[in-house]
Amino acid sequence: MIQENNKTCAIIGAGISGIAASIRMRNKGYRVTVYEANPFPGGKLSSETKNGYRFDMGPSVFTYPEFVDELFVLSGKNPRDYFNYERLDPVYQYFFEDGSVLKSRSGKEPYAEEMASKTKDSKEDIIRYLNKTETIYNLTAEVFLYNSLHKIRNYFTKRVLKGFLNFGKIGAFDTMNGANEKSFKDPRLVQIANRYSTYNGSSPYLSPATLNVIPYVEIVKGAYYPVGGMYSITSSLVQLAKDIGVEFRFSTPVREILIENKKATGIRTDAASTAYDVVISNMDVYNSYMKLMPAAKKPLRTLSQPKSSSGIIFYWGIKKEFPELKLHNILFSADYREEFDTLFAKKSIYHDPTIYVNITSKHTPTDAPAGGENWFTFINVPNNQGQDWDQFIAEARKNIINKVNRLLKTDIEPLIEAEIVFDPRVIESRTSSAFGAIYGNSSNNQFAAFMRHANFSSRIKNLYFCGGSVHPGPSIPLCLLSARIATGMIR
Ligand SMILES: Cc1cc2nc3c(=O)[nH]c(=O)nc-3n(C[C@H](O)[C@H](O)[C@H](O)COP(=O)(O)OP(=O)(O)OC[C@H]3O[C@@H](n4cnc5c(N)ncnc54)[C@H](O)[C@@H]3O)c2cc1C
Repeated sequence: MIQENNKTCAIIGAGISGIAASIRMRNKGYRVTVYEANPFPGGKLSSETKNGYRFDMGPSVFTYPEFVDELFVLSGKNPRDYFNYERLDPVYQYFFEDGSVLKSRSGKEPYAEEMASKTKDSKEDIIRYLNKTETIYNLTAEVFLYNSLHKIRNYFTKRVLKGFLNFGKIGAFDTMNGANEKSFKDPRLVQIANRYSTYNGSSPYLSPATLNVIPYVEIVKGAYYPVGGMYSITSSLVQLAKDIGVEFRFSTPVREILIENKKATGIRTDAASTAYDVVISNMDVYNSYMKLMPAAKKPLRTLSQPKSSSGIIFYWGIKKEFPELKLHNILFSADYREEFDTLFAKKSIYHDPTIYVNITSKHTPTDAPAGGENWFTFINVPNNQGQDWDQFIAEARKNIINKVNRLLKTDIEPLIEAEIVFDPRVIESRTSSAFGAIYGNSSNNQFAAFMRHANFSSRIKNLYFCGGSVHPGPSIPLCLLSARIATGMIR
């Protein structure tokens, strides 16, 4: 039973973090209104259908389902009445140019056994690597994920102090690739381990080995598939929010955060200015300052940090089934270092890109017409610095088709009967993500985690931030934690 407190809260944006924040604020007794620029919720976690093919437009890998469940439990509901999921095993299939295919099994032992049977590394080597990722997780989760990094009192808990005392063990002084080359003899295992830097839009040759925590979460803690596809995370949480009394205003962009005497006092839309006790922005923090508070003093050092990579995505309706493909498939480039150098140093697209193909119709057959498959075909690209994206899209399409044909021994182009294309410009206009970067700031240096914007404003009272562009960072689970940390600061 919610205890009303007669206070009001405006949330700017119905991304996954904004929706989670709305549920948490409603449970605190606030009257909550979510303003969303799009006619639909979810931001990056949205869904579209074309010619009978349904696509999840953004995230496809789901970890930490307990963070979703927690919102139902908090609201006195049974999560299983709204939302269900299954653990994946295997999680990924990796295709290499030499014709080999490796499977990523779920759990330490199965992963190590499977990889050892197909590579030059022993089961013990692989377990040792996974143990190192576990150590990083145990030492960092409390410091970097669960609490604000911007409240001094959070640094004086036993677990956080332990994390700092063991700074050497978390890989802060090595690069991800440096650490992974020490862990494995087989270059394919290095490439697989390096791939996890792309989960927050960074390069394994620049980002700290601390990011080796990501494979621990996916391989050991587990990756899941939400029944009905990724969009069911958005739709079930919106349903929960509505059920407990959150109000959503779609197609209603917020134009300004109203500020008086260094205090957020409300928001302005095209229709009206409305007073609120608390304002939480789920809009990318860079654009929150630049577009909604142009006159406010800005934390320029934080806002000017380099942004993450973006993506070109071809959502293809394919009128054929490929039994050799599963839900998550990676077709690796032959030269990973050159690929990342092209993305981050040259800010261009690579001629032999690593391709990610996600096919939800493997698990949800209604996502494609009978005999067909819905391919989410993704390559990493730089964020938008004014490059010629139409030219890049044409090149990327050709390069992807050539590589898919080569590795799967097929002719894919005549099989494409539906197509939607996203590039950094589309991502930017659809979600207000600065420069179309998918993951906010990049993590291409050891200090990136400390340089993300806090979940509150230190200059403007009653103003809070949640989502992938602020602490603790991008991805569904971190965005859900971001909402938890931001709303946890509000009495
Ligand atoms: C292609 C792709 C693949 C990804 N893969 C994964 C994955 O596999 N696993 C994973 O965990 N994560 C993945 N991510 C990252 C994940 O999707 C994001 O980190 C997360 O969804 C971001 O959520 P958010 O709450 O920050 O808001 P966003 O999704 O960025 O949404 C912000 C919302 O705010 C609205 N808004 C902005 N400004 C205003 C305004 N002024 N007024 C009103 N509304 C406004 C926007 O319209 C939008 O709906 C992927 C992302 C993309 C794009």
